[in-house]
Amino acid sequence: MDFLAEAARIEPEIIKNRRTFHQHPELAYHEEVTSRLVAEKLGSMDISVRSRVGGTGVLGTLEGGKPGRVVALRADMDGLPVQELSDVDFRSKVDGVMHACGHDTHMAMLLGAARILSENRRELCGTVKFLFQPAEEHGGKGGAMPMIEAGVMKDPKVDYVFGLHIDSTRKSGEIGVREGAIMAAPDTFKVKIVGRGGHGSAPHETVDPIYVAAHVILALQGVSSRMIDPVRPFVISVGAVHSGTKENIIPDVAVLEGTIRTLDEATRRRAKKRVETVARGVCKTFGASAEVEFETDAYPVTVNDLKATEKAVRVLRRIPGVKIKRIEPVLGGEDFSRFLQKAPGMFYFLGTDNPAKGCVYPNHSSRFKVDEDVLKLGSASLAMLAFEFGNPRGPA
Ligand SMILES: [Zn+2]
Ligand SMILES: [Zn+2]
Repeated sequence: MDFLAEAARIEPEIIKNRRTFHQHPELAYHEEVTSRLVAEKLGSMDISVRSRVGGTGVLGTLEGGKPGRVVALRADMDGLPVQELSDVDFRSKVDGVMHACGHDTHMAMLLGAARILSENRRELCGTVKFLFQPAEEHGGKGGAMPMIEAGVMKDPKVDYVFGLHIDSTRKSGEIGVREGAIMAAPDTFKVKIVGRGGHGSAPHETVDPIYVAAHVILALQGVSSRMIDPVRPFVISVGAVHSGTKENIIPDVAVLEGTIRTLDEATRRRAKKRVETVARGVCKTFGASAEVEFETDAYPVTVNDLKATEKAVRVLRRIPGVKIKRIEPVLGGEDFSRFLQKAPGMFYFLGTDNPAKGCVYPNHSSRFKVDEDVLKLGSASLAMLAFEFGNPRGPA
């Protein structure tokens, strides 16, 4: 079966769906209109639908005509708090909210795959589950976990799971893959430095938390340069500093907020411990105290299964003209990682960088623009993975 030809045949529908989603973006856990639309589209393909799964999530289940494995395909549904400034004529109709990460394209591509698979269900082995997930951008409380808790990976148990992300850093139509760790664990931390305030002219009678904060910020970079194995990727950034009200007042408290990114659990544990030790130690040196907190539900590292990735790449290579590239890991976080903790599978990227069409702005930019010509390729790839991995004698 020529999946790309099938996807090309329904390309107008894929693009139309994408533009509808694009015009009506909704923030994390508020995907009400979006999830209704998804449920309606799946229903119209005669796919069984369960709505309000883990919040606004939607689960579609398609039974193939032949016995086989259970394959789950996932798309995320949330937009971002960004005011759209792109030059497309189907711009967001919601003030201050935009599909700036391309989750609109993920939904449209997955609905396209659902269409192809549902129209070929007699030939399809096993079961395909379509996971439309809320709130990927939420950070710690992302929508994957509540969907898993609502049972989407069980009854029937999912054997393989695949997810796709549109990617502004890759050439249009290029597919980026990697076995093993592909995206980081994003751990958010907060350091509250408690000093003792007073008059700006008499610092010796105070414990100046701003001065201490400056030392903490510098010392934290020593965690990455001196305390973590340099061959293991690790980033620490302090992104927010809060303290003070007026130039001649030394405040009582300063608060730092930051993020650390790691690609393996051992480095992650070590880094978190060191951040805490360094922050406490520096504060103690200067007579302040530190309260260090980490977000408790941070996303895990996204780890692609070695065998499943190898097989998936062999499947995707059969798409005519497709360019597949092995990529370096990305230090962004993804809660697709949670699905990969329940079943082997692969998270992969689809490039949309196309200067000729003005598609040059990064994901999350107010000018983020997608080359819609690549969407059919996304649909074809997802449908193919479900079709091939569902087959009990297939690539798996
Ligand atoms: Zn994003
Ligand atoms: Zn995203």
